[in-house]
Amino acid sequence: TTFYEFELHHSVVRALTEMGLEKATPIQEQTIPIALQRKDVIGQAQTGTGKTAAFGIPLIERLDPEEEKIQGVVLTPTRELAVQVAGELNKIARFKKIRVLPIYGGQDMNRQIRELKKKPHVIVATPGRFMDHMRRKTIRLHSIDMVVLDEADEMLNMGFIDDIKTILNEVPEERQTLLFSATMPKPIQEIAGNFMKDPDIIKV
Ligand code: AMP
Repeated sequence: TTFYEFELHHSVVRALTEMGLEKATPIQEQTIPIALQRKDVIGQAQTGTGKTAAFGIPLIERLDPEEEKIQGVVLTPTRELAVQVAGELNKIARFKKIRVLPIYGGQDMNRQIRELKKKPHVIVATPGRFMDHMRRKTIRLHSIDMVVLDEADEMLNMGFIDDIKTILNEVPEERQTLLFSATMPKPIQEIAGNFMKDPDIIKV
């Protein structure tokens, strides 16, 4: 399947072409059409399968650049992954006026607050720091329409499970949730059961 077949906005197709991406990988081929319908998806996929673009393409496609509020949140286990995912999302969003901001622990809080005032459309964050901003109300949740849990099993290993539950309890219920994980241990299955709506399960 080529990316043309998903009927994406021309700015997104153009960005993918410039990134040298032409044909969808199996996880992308299966995830993108379902996610574009605003359905919840569990993607059981390892790193290297193209999972970032599998959630990144529908996320960027569905965002409204005119609405200067946080519309999408991606949670990642590490700051390195947050930076990497934000970089890939920024590339996909290159021809659409979308701002993607990575937020992670260890970074200067005041600098993050200044960046948040520039009204990013997407935040890619580690759960602990996202919680800090939630508590300080420097991140507002009411406009969030899509939440992605990336490498959910790694977030579990890093001890973020309670933070994830708190965050999922506080974001609007009328959102779409995508969950990616290489493995599906019990606590991750419970997250899926308690916080997702009839998700399609895609294994590659
Ligand atoms: P990921 O699984 O998201 O970590 O992606 C692994 C690598 O595959 C990244 O370097 C991507 O740029 C690359 N990639 C993602 N999608 C495609 C695609 N459709 N065709 C070729 N390479 C891709």
